[in-house]
Amino acid sequence: MENNKLNCPHCGQKMTAWKAPDDSTWTSALQYVCFNDDCPYYVKGWEWMQQQYKHRASYRHRYNPETEHSGPLPVWSENAMKNFIVEK
Ligand SMILES: [Zn+2]
Repeated sequence: MENNKLNCPHCGQKMTAWKAPDDSTWTSALQYVCFNDDCPYYVKGWEWMQQQYKHRASYRHRYNPETEHSGPLPVWSENAMKNFIVEK
């Protein structure tokens, strides 16, 4: 049961442990982010942002195990935010 929450609800892939940058507004240390580049949520995000804002950006699915909240993590490139991935 516990493992299901760490799978992305959009693509089913296991999410990656990720630490928010120090200057972000998130207080909790560790979150989980889907870094699957084929994730439909992320793929559609590019189209949506382009249509709505004429802006090259997207977002990835993010899950906060502390608050049990999930939401978008805005990204501006394929590699954005990947430098904050927590190595196992
Ligand atoms: Zn996903």
